[in-house]
Amino acid sequence: MTEAVSVTNWAGNITYAAKELHRPHSRAALRALVAGSTRVRVLGSGHSFNEIAEPGPEGALLSLAGLPPEIEVDTAARTVRVSGGVRYAELARVVHRHGLALANMASLPHISVAGSVATGTHGSGLGNGPLSTAVREVELVTADGSA
Ligand SMILES: Cc1cc2nc3c(=O)[nH]c(=O)nc-3n(C[C@H](O)[C@H](O)[C@H](O)COP(=O)(O)OP(=O)(O)OC[C@H]3O[C@@H](n4cnc5c(N)ncnc54)[C@H](O)[C@@H]3O)c2cc1C
Repeated sequence: MTEAVSVTNWAGNITYAAKELHRPHSRAALRALVAGSTRVRVLGSGHSFNEIAEPGPEGALLSLAGLPPEIEVDTAARTVRVSGGVRYAELARVVHRHGLALANMASLPHISVAGSVATGTHGSGLGNGPLSTAVREVELVTADGSA
């Protein structure tokens, strides 16, 4: 799905320069959009206070909020696999149901995992690394649409 856009960050103080906003509903659609675009930025939950998620006036914004929210917990390995649009609140609830917990969280539950990992978002505690230190593996869609 494509929309002509005026998209702002969460606080409303930044309007992203972008030609269009896409909300793909499948991984295949996401990959095709990336492959067919010259400039793309993913929009997480839009909580950054700057233009970091801005693709520019000729670029495309890509929201992953329409992708099925996959959260697969491996209790034996104590790992969890999440899809690109998942937010910490959903993740924390699911791991809790498996008797597990996240080592740390930022101040907000509704920021996206991928956006937080991409920006070095941190929780509290001098001895705790940023949230990205919990990441073991990342699956990327690269410019030609392959993963
Ligand atoms: C009220 C408030 C409280 C906050 N509290 C904290 C805090 O406690 N600790 C802290 O460190 N920070 C905090 N922040 C900052 C916030 O956590 C970060 O800005 C973080 O990036 C938010 O994630 P997001 O999903 O909103 O990312 P966005 O702002 O939407 O995007 C950030 C970057 O990540 C990229 N990105 C997003 N999703 C993907 C994806 N799926 N694939 C590839 N790239 C992607 C975007 O393209 C962009 O470059 C706070 C912000 C607000 C507004």
